[in-house]
Amino acid sequence: MPRRRFQVRGVVQGVGFRPAVYRLALARGLTGVVWNHAQGVTLEVQGVEADLAAFERALREEIPPPARIQSLVVEAMHDVQGEAGFRILASGQGEAPRPVVPPDLALCEACAAEVDTPGERRYRYPFTNCTRCGPRYTIIEDLPYDRPRTVMKAFPLCADCAREYQDPLDRRFHAQPVACPACGPRLALQAADGLVRAEGEAALAAAAEALGQGAVLALKGLGGYQLLVDATSAAAVELLRSRKRREAKPFAVMFPDRASLLRDCEVSPEEDAWLASPEAPILLLRRRLGGAVVAEVAPGNPRLGAFLPNTPLHRLLLAAAGRPLVCTSGNLSDEPMAFEDDEARRRLGGLADLFLSHNRPITRPVDDSVLRVDADGPTILRRARGFAPLAVPLGWKGPGALGLGGPCVLALGAHQKNTVALLKGGELVMSQHLGDLTSLEGSDLLARTVTDLLAFFGARPELLACDLHPDYASTRLAERLAAEWQVPLVRVQHHHAHGAACAAEHGLTGPALALTWDGTGLGSDGTLWGGEALWIEGAIFTRLGHLKPFPLPGGATAVKQPRRSAAGLLWAVRGAGAPPPALAAAFDGAEWAQLQTLLAAGFNSPVTSSLGRLFDAVAALAGLHARGGFEGQAAMALEFAAGERVEAPYGWDFLDGVADPAPLVEGVLADLAAGREAGFIAARFHAALAELALAWAHQAGLPDVLLSGGCFQNALLTARVQEKLGGAGFRVHRHRAFPPNDGGISLGQAAVAALTKVDP
Ligand SMILES: [Zn+2]
Ligand SMILES: [Zn+2]
Repeated sequence: MPRRRFQVRGVVQGVGFRPAVYRLALARGLTGVVWNHAQGVTLEVQGVEADLAAFERALREEIPPPARIQSLVVEAMHDVQGEAGFRILASGQGEAPRPVVPPDLALCEACAAEVDTPGERRYRYPFTNCTRCGPRYTIIEDLPYDRPRTVMKAFPLCADCAREYQDPLDRRFHAQPVACPACGPRLALQAADGLVRAEGEAALAAAAEALGQGAVLALKGLGGYQLLVDATSAAAVELLRSRKRREAKPFAVMFPDRASLLRDCEVSPEEDAWLASPEAPILLLRRRLGGAVVAEVAPGNPRLGAFLPNTPLHRLLLAAAGRPLVCTSGNLSDEPMAFEDDEARRRLGGLADLFLSHNRPITRPVDDSVLRVDADGPTILRRARGFAPLAVPLGWKGPGALGLGGPCVLALGAHQKNTVALLKGGELVMSQHLGDLTSLEGSDLLARTVTDLLAFFGARPELLACDLHPDYASTRLAERLAAEWQVPLVRVQHHHAHGAACAAEHGLTGPALALTWDGTGLGSDGTLWGGEALWIEGAIFTRLGHLKPFPLPGGATAVKQPRRSAAGLLWAVRGAGAPPPALAAAFDGAEWAQLQTLLAAGFNSPVTSSLGRLFDAVAALAGLHARGGFEGQAAMALEFAAGERVEAPYGWDFLDGVADPAPLVEGVLADLAAGREAGFIAARFHAALAELALAWAHQAGLPDVLLSGGCFQNALLTARVQEKLGGAGFRVHRHRAFPPNDGGISLGQAAVAALTKVDP
């Protein structure tokens, strides 16, 4: 009788793949075996030809998500005599760690129904899960992924759970985090001093009641502690802002259910699918007028970061609270999220009134992912829960393509929005978003994440990559590891890494123009770059064009004080002088004069070609957030002010690829003098940037143009540049699976290092 072997790679471990195979084989009377191993899953089936063909079809078409087959190799085998039935073999022992570490998955429909149904064993149980949903990456201690190597080892299965766990026909067959009210983790509500106030249902009810009264709740979520407040109460939101020292940056909001979300946000069919997906990211949705969420949640922002409960605990809490809740990372400003209980009480004690916690440990912090869907598709803006640490095939084509034999590279990423990337076997594994590395917690987390990824993926890097900047925590760790492992370290310029990330994501290694428009990053010439047109080819880049540099009086402080960028830009264009009337009010007393002195002396006034700072300067001139806020706030205000309106672009002066914004600045000043409003100026500015993109694209004369850098988080800018370049026949590539912001830098560093020929 014919027998076939199927070698399956993809998302096939920890997602109910083997039980699904078992059921398919059983339904067709086939005998055989299936087992997990280092490269994925292998199965052998034996039976009559028609049944084997039907089985293969079903395998390709009927495996339920979140399982995903990336490659399937079929071989004919000799038959096995006397085989009885179909068996699921135990995971291979003593093999190399397997390359697939499953990401955490949002509550599935079947489990949600159980949680909602009185009489079910898991009715209202906050830790319900199955092979299709639940924690994975956040509970794994070691591989292979089996219960004894997760934090669930502390919860011996009761007889009922054990039966489900062992029954190949059950949805919970080998669901490693399986648990129930009799044997699993439990909830507790604690005061900031750690004193337990209530447990179980009573804890949930008391937490919901406190939220209704305006309290700040620290919730131990899936991948760390989150801070929650009533999103319909301005007072509650302001309380959280003052305690978290976060003045204006938008908060994400979790809604109890889809119906309540639809009252506050517009949702397209594609966005709807993402809301219900196993990744269940925060989506940046258009707000509706007259919704329940107060304006203080995202001041002046036409979009709202919205998502649905992704665990049974969130589902029960949101239902009990009966209102949308602000749901933000449990941290102070830009530190990493707290995820261990003692640490959380220490760090969040002054922020939260109550802690809704439980006794299931979290092995590593994983934030919520953020995604935006534009007219031409989705872009991940923060890659974390649901996506990390899935390997993404890069599929490079053409000369210099990385085959399976490419070197193993570890890249340590940028200083802000840090991620770590591991390139191995032509696939890229990006860590979850780790946040800023300015704090001690941040650099500790970076080191732990590196150790994790190398162990999980059995990787021994032959090359290391980091930023050019000598003082970043990521650079220092890269230097230390390079010395320890005796491997070469490739230092990659920040904007080169941005462009290379976009190229790698789209499988391009040939020459392309990268428009890397960004905040500031250290350039190869020691100045601050950020408005760049780079010719990228393999591991090499040439700076084809850039914004004409202007000084930033006060250096780094300019990032949070757009009026300083405006002063520097005016100095570069007009020289010394009084501030234009519209801008004068943004400066205190002698401040303008002091900045003029700094600029005249060239003291603490580094020059930059940053487009992000040009955004700040123009926003400040237009009267938007001139005094300050969070990084990017003024630029966002300019995007929102422009709305959908289309106006004639401001001009540029070009000299050898250097774009002088002097005509643009004069145009803005003339419009201000004529009393034109901010929206008009903002629309002309965006149109001018599309013209700038086109001018550089014509100068490069290459068919492929890559868009990367923090400025391309701006949906309007991205759309305008795409239209302009697309209309002129260029192929425009933008980020999809990886963030255009500094979260994508590690990918670009890894790609450049892999393409670099390093002499031994
Ligand atoms: Zn489930
Ligand atoms: Zn149980």
